[in-house]
Amino acid sequence: MTTKIHYQCQRCTACCRWPGFVRISEAEVPRLAAHLGLDEDAFIQRYTRLTPRRTGLALIDQPGGACYFLQNGGCLLQAVKPAQCAGFPNTWNTPGWREICRAIPIEMDDSANS
Ligand code: SF4
Repeated sequence: MTTKIHYQCQRCTACCRWPGFVRISEAEVPRLAAHLGLDEDAFIQRYTRLTPRRTGLALIDQPGGACYFLQNGGCLLQAVKPAQCAGFPNTWNTPGWREICRAIPIEMDDSANS
């Protein structure tokens, strides 16, 4: 049996405050727009910007760099949040992430996948 560490998010919102790009895919646009009661064009116009090199879309920021959708201490997109947000810190992370993120490491039985 092998074990794998899964980091369980504690919703401290630290990662939502880091300056950077929350990239969204084309496939994510319809559900994000619908969640906000907007059509896709209105959502893109109001709440997205081009990523560097204009290769895709990212959510807009607040002044200071926090994600625009971090409001009143919570995520307005929690129910439909982009894969980039849902994946952190398990599917991707950055150097030094452990010093800031409060996610709790949990040992998972990985035998089904081995
Ligand atoms: S920094 Fe870590 S614990 Fe805090 S919201 Fe982000 S993933 Fe969750």
